[in-house]
Amino acid sequence: MRMFDIILKKRDKGLLTYEELKFFIDGIVNGSIPDYQTTALLMAVFINGMNNRETSDLCLLMAESGDMMNFSDEYTTVDKHSTGGVGDKTSLIVAPIAAACGLTVAKMSGRALGHTGGTIDKLESIPGLKLDMSIREFERIYKKAGICIAGQSGNMVPADKILYGLRDVTATVGSISLIAASIMSKKLAAGAGNIILDVKTGSGAFMGDIEEAFLLAEKMVEIGLDNGRNIVALVTMMDAPLGYNIGNSLEVQEAVDVLKGCCASSDLYEVSVALASELISMSKKISLSEAKEKVEGKIHDGTAFIKLRDMVDAQGGNIQALDDYSLFKQPAKTISITAPEDGFLSRLDAKKVGVVSMNLGAGRSKKTDPIDYSAGIRLMKKPGDEVRRGETVAYLYSDLDNLKSQINAFKSACRYSKKKPEKTKLILGRVSQEGREIY
Ligand code: URA
Repeated sequence: MRMFDIILKKRDKGLLTYEELKFFIDGIVNGSIPDYQTTALLMAVFINGMNNRETSDLCLLMAESGDMMNFSDEYTTVDKHSTGGVGDKTSLIVAPIAAACGLTVAKMSGRALGHTGGTIDKLESIPGLKLDMSIREFERIYKKAGICIAGQSGNMVPADKILYGLRDVTATVGSISLIAASIMSKKLAAGAGNIILDVKTGSGAFMGDIEEAFLLAEKMVEIGLDNGRNIVALVTMMDAPLGYNIGNSLEVQEAVDVLKGCCASSDLYEVSVALASELISMSKKISLSEAKEKVEGKIHDGTAFIKLRDMVDAQGGNIQALDDYSLFKQPAKTISITAPEDGFLSRLDAKKVGVVSMNLGAGRSKKTDPIDYSAGIRLMKKPGDEVRRGETVAYLYSDLDNLKSQINAFKSACRYSKKKPEKTKLILGRVSQEGREIY
């Protein structure tokens, strides 16, 4: 078999066989296929697509390219994945709720890249918390605490690491088949039996188009079902940041506030409870309304917060920081952004806000960039809120000098109106074994 013929076949809109895809994945992992041929095939797939069978085959081959987690039947394991958003700290809320409901959360998460955040960077802002650990340590913690979140082990899904790195620099990230195979290969390798996916759409998401977000959700759910998993995807809006805080330690603090029952009316609470309810419903085989009651109960009686504290403790973090936020690293500078006129904040562009947060030091534009855990943005107003001229809309936090361009960029993310804007829907629909439901 020759890589040349595989590229030629996909270039001419052919369907790749399992054997051809296996040759490709084996070749990129053992180094026998050069990057120029890999990227030629990626571009051919980007342009001509893959059918469901090709996508499933690619996904499973990627999952099997490295270590795979295996849980014994005594654990009901759960996993959650978001396709990435701004201010999206729902994993930090859903995971402890699931553990408080008696499910096992043994989750390997990623770091931030670009304008979206990563769970591992957020957790790393907790003083002392350890996220790089051996599989043995990971097992010891989830068995003891019922919950462990760690960075991806060195040899999990190496094919995705190679492919994602090349897609990122060759304009081939935005392919539904490649995204579905990439995300689901990591979910299959991570081994959980019950999976909730949060597929974001809107200006701050990979899938800006709602129909494409549903198509991505359907592909991923189909792959999960074909591989014997319980799986549901919610399609949720990411036009504006989720919650009030953007940036690593700020997001941990807001997640802790939600777990302590302080934010019951926020958009963050609504999405977190919806995701957690789906996960509990599918894992415990109970109705969605029963699951929602359980989820809210675990927040209100404090047991979800206790699970987060147990996890932080088991992973070596300072649990006092969860009650005293001054123990997190503090930023050198705070800048207030004020409203230029009386009226309403009508829009806050998620992507632009995410880029500002990254440039304040909270994210990285290259994998090797350092992160400032205290940098970020605290919103004092959300779209739809009334504002008075001169009132603070947001605070920007950073250790960097010369923040003029970030201040201007944040201002350009805000739109104001005289009339109160209509409330936009947050949860647009659901994809499950039964198909697509639009809310
Ligand atoms: N997240 C992933 O893990 N992979 C993609 O391809 C896109 C988003």
